[in-house]
Amino acid sequence: MSTPNAPITQDLVTIPRKLPEGPINLVGLTREAMRDVLIEHGTPEKQAKMRVGQIWQWIYNWGVRDFDEMTNLSKTFRAELAENFVIAVPEVVNKQVSKDGTRKYLVRIAGGHEVEVVYIPEADRGTLCISSQVGCTLTCSFCHTGTQKLVRNLTAGEIIGQVMLARDDLGEWPEHGTRTYEARMLSNIVLMGMGEPLYNFENVRDAMKIAMDQEGIQLSRRRITLSTSGVVPEIHRTAQEIGCLLAVSFHATTDEVRDKLVPINKRWNIEALLEALRAYPKVSNSERITFEYVMLEGINDSVEDAHRLVKLLEGIPAKVNLIPFNEWPGAPYTRSSGNRIHRFADIIHDAGYSSPIRTPRGEDIFAACGQLKSATERERKSRKQIEADAGL
Ligand code: SAH
Ligand code: SF4
Repeated sequence: MSTPNAPITQDLVTIPRKLPEGPINLVGLTREAMRDVLIEHGTPEKQAKMRVGQIWQWIYNWGVRDFDEMTNLSKTFRAELAENFVIAVPEVVNKQVSKDGTRKYLVRIAGGHEVEVVYIPEADRGTLCISSQVGCTLTCSFCHTGTQKLVRNLTAGEIIGQVMLARDDLGEWPEHGTRTYEARMLSNIVLMGMGEPLYNFENVRDAMKIAMDQEGIQLSRRRITLSTSGVVPEIHRTAQEIGCLLAVSFHATTDEVRDKLVPINKRWNIEALLEALRAYPKVSNSERITFEYVMLEGINDSVEDAHRLVKLLEGIPAKVNLIPFNEWPGAPYTRSSGNRIHRFADIIHDAGYSSPIRTPRGEDIFAACGQLKSATERERKSRKQIEADAGL
C-alpha cells in the first residue's frame, strides 16, 4: 500500500445567501427573514407578522406558487407581492421511476447546476433523500459524489424546494382549507443525498426548520435524519439548533482504515467523533444514533471489525445500518458477499444492537446511496487516480 495522499476536501464555490439581483424568492426564508423583506418592501410593521402567517400557509401548507391564489389577501397587496417576490422551487429536468417504485429527480438549480433527489416508498412510510450541496467537498474514496469536482452549497430555498417539488410530483398538497396529513406519501426526510450537510449548516438548519413548522409541511423532527461524515464541531449545534435524528457515516473501526475511506477522519478521528456522538442524544433529546457502515469486501467487513465496532459503540444508544456497497464505474472497491454481511450483522445483533442490512433501492436507475452525481459532472477521475487517492 502506498502512503495515502488524498486531499480531505475539495474547493467550494460559495454563493451569497441573498442573491443581489432580481425578485426575492420567498421559499427558504425563515419566518423572521420573510417578515424583514415584507417590511423592506412596504408592508407596515404592525401587519407584517400576520402577513407572514398567511403567506406561509399558502406556500407550505397548500403548495401555492401564485400570489393571485392567495385569496385572503387584498388584490393590491397580491399585486405588490408579485412585483417584488417569487415563489420558486428548483426545476425538475428529468424524472426516472424504478421498477421498485423509487423515483429519482434530476433537479436544476440557479447557475445551471444539477442535483439529484430520490423518493423511496415503503410499506409504512415514504422517504425523501435530499441533497445539501452540488457534489461534495469531501473525498470519501467509495463515494461517487466525492469524485465530482464542481461543488457549491445549496441555498435553504433549494433544499426545502426539493421537498416541495416531490410533493408536487406525488400530488400530496392538501386541498386549500384542509390540513389532513394522515398516511402521508412523503413522511420522512433524510439528508443523505449529495453533499455534507454540516458543511452547509445554516442553510440546512433553516430549510429543516421550515419542514418542521407546524403551520406548513409539519414533519416532526423525529422524521428527519441528517447524515454526516463526522464534522465534529457542528454536531453539538445540530442537536441544539435542529434537533433531528443523526446518522453518521462510520464505515471503519480503526483510524487507519477510516482515514482512507472517510478522509475527514484525519481531522477528527474516531475518538473525537465518538465523544461528540455520546453527547448528542441528551442535547437533542432524541433516541438512537444511526451508524452507517458500508460493506466493502476485504476492507472493513471482518469478524474482528464487527467485534471492534461493538466495543466502540459502548455507551451510545445506537443502531447500525449495514449498507451493501453500491458499485459505480471506476469504483476501487467491491461489495462484500451476502455471507460476510450477514455474519457481520449477526455479531452486532447479538451484542444487542439493531443491525438491519439496507436493501439497495432504485439500482436500475442509479439512485442508490453514493451513486448520485449530476449529469453535468460525469467527468470522472481515472480509476488509477481514485486508487492512489484512497491509498490502495
Ligand atoms: N455526506 C453525508 C451524507 C450523504 S451520503 C455522509 O457522508 O454522511 C449517505 C450515505 O451513503 C453515507 O453513509 C455514505 O457514506 C454512503 N455511501 C456513499 N457512497 C456509497 C456507495 N457507493 N455505496 C453505499 N453507500 C455509500
Ligand atoms: Fe461527501 Fe458523504 Fe460522499 Fe463522503 S460519503 S464524499 S461526505 S457525500
